[in-house]
Amino acid sequence: MDRIKLHDRYFNLFIPNEKIEAAIRQTAMRINSDYSESGSVPVFLSVLNGSFMFTASLMKYITFPCELSFVKLSSYCGTSSTGQVKQLIGVSDSLKGRRVIIVEDIVDSGKTITDMYALLQAQEVEDIKVCTLFLKPAAYKGSVRIDYHAMEIGNEFIVGFGLDYDQLGRQYPDIYIVE
Ligand code: 5GP
Ligand code: MG
Repeated sequence: MDRIKLHDRYFNLFIPNEKIEAAIRQTAMRINSDYSESGSVPVFLSVLNGSFMFTASLMKYITFPCELSFVKLSSYCGTSSTGQVKQLIGVSDSLKGRRVIIVEDIVDSGKTITDMYALLQAQEVEDIKVCTLFLKPAAYKGSVRIDYHAMEIGNEFIVGFGLDYDQLGRQYPDIYIVE
């Protein structure tokens, strides 16, 4: 499909699946070489919902022993003055002393990844690395290092391959750009 409609907007084909898969494979090979030396077993933390498809593709190319958990970053409905307190849900075992690789769909302003990073630091993990399918370098204002990114895009809005527009469009194997 060259053009899709989600809610009220039209999106055009932007990055075909083969190109995405090739970029993911390259990223996995970089991760494999960085984790080739012995050490504690790393755990990939896939941030739902957006990174489900990326995670499935990426993990098929990972060659070292590793664990995988799916997590979600949720707003915490407490009595915080800011109302911005986030909570990490889905982590059953302690991550203390673990080597963690965060798997994200897209890093835009960096707010989400900064929150995620802080929550993991609070759990006294041994090491945190960040791996994202897409990075928007012109939009990124965070200070967290983005260790691995499969592709870079401009400040456009994209959907497909796990990414949604108001919950629609996650299932498409290609990436579409808003018209
Ligand atoms: P940040 O916190 O880095 O500004 O934004 C990250 C989150 O915003 C992503 O996890 C994603 O949910 C959403 N986001 C940012 N840019 C895009 C985009 O181009 N397309 C889609 N579908 N979501 C985006
Ligand atoms: Mg997301």
